[in-house]
This record gives sequence, structure tokens and C-alpha cells, in this order.
Amino acid sequence: MKEIKCTIIQDILPLYVDGVVSEDTKDMVNKHLQTCPACQKEYEQMTQTLYVPVENKVTLFNKINKRWYRKKIILISTSVLTTALLLLAVFSYVFHYEKTIPYEKKLFSVEQQEDGTLATYYYGKSYAGVVASHPMSIEIDGVTKNVSFVYFTETIADSPRRNLINGEKQTEAYQISLPDSRSVDAVYYGEFDFEKIVITKEQTWEELLQGKTLIWKK
Ligand SMILES: [Zn+2]
Repeated sequence: MKEIKCTIIQDILPLYVDGVVSEDTKDMVNKHLQTCPACQKEYEQMTQTLYVPVENKVTLFNKINKRWYRKKIILISTSVLTTALLLLAVFSYVFHYEKTIPYEKKLFSVEQQEDGTLATYYYGKSYAGVVASHPMSIEIDGVTKNVSFVYFTETIADSPRRNLINGEKQTEAYQISLPDSRSVDAVYYGEFDFEKIVITKEQTWEELLQGKTLIWKK
């Protein structure tokens, strides 16, 4: 039989190792390997690198599987956490985010009580909170006046427009006494932050009064 060149055998070897050669080629390579130590060595090296023991295959598969599994768990917990955070944000927004109820003539009034103190009335369905100031001495048009400020807040859950928590209809007005109000000359409605005037000096009394609504005066 004609001697086949080693280079040809080695060219075929990868296909032979993969088992994709014809029976004739396989016989030919077999015969050559039995007689040629050089090609045999090549063949051994090739099979050594390709050979993965069954146990190792399983371990590798498990590793991949576990990693994938862990990733999946992380993904699931992340989405659960995200949902929880989102719900918490919505919850906080609905129940805790308070904003000032804008002034409407039909919603608010101030009336003097029999004892001389002032009370503010709110005719909306519900509110979240009331912020009322003690009388502040403010010079208005050259005259010093005792001025009280008041405003009501609402949350989405607890507001005149969307009453999710308290479904009952408010038939009587809410009445809130204004603190220290016997000497009060005027009551203004609107959000205020005295810190901006007294401490940080960001605002003057005039600027504060500009955005407020006068709802009662002596
Ligand atoms: Zn050879």
C-alpha cells in the first residue's frame, strides 16, 4: 500500500477525532497511526485537549446552572424589591405627601367666637393637617398689626377631591381655634415659612403677604 504523507494524515486528524470521516478514511488513518509514532502523538494530544471527563461535564453544567439560577433569584428579588419600593413611594405619596389646599372662598372662613378668640372653618370633605401661626407683629402700610397665618394641607388619600380613607361626607365644617388670637388684627390664608424671613432672610414680610389671601380682619 502506498505510503501516505504524515501531513495529509494530520490534516485529516481533526475530522477523524470528531468522527466525521468515511469508513475508508478511518481505516486509512487507523493503519497509519499504528505505524507512525509522530502522528500517533499528534492524535493523542488532540484527543487529550478535546476529552472532557463525564464528571467534569456534570460539574461544569451544574456550575453554569447554579450561576444562572442565582442570577434568576437576584433578578426576581430585585424586581420584588423594586415593586416594594415603588409601592412604598406611592404609599408615601398618597398618605404622607401633604400639599397646601389652595384658597377657595367657599372652603374657608374665620369667625370670632364668643370668648373673643378666632376660629377658622374648613368646609371641605377632609384635610390632612392645619398649620396656624401665633400672631406676628408686622408693619403694613406704616401701621403695626398682629397678623395670623393659617393653611390647611391635604394628601391624595385625604383630600376634599379624593376621599379614599374617610368615605363619610362631611356635613359640618371643621373648626380650628387660632392660637392666641384675641389680639389678632388680620388673618391671612396661605403657606408660610417664618424661617425664611427670620433666620435665612430669604424673604421679607411684604413678600410673604403678597402671595397670601386676607380672609379676616378686625
Ligand atoms: Zn505519520
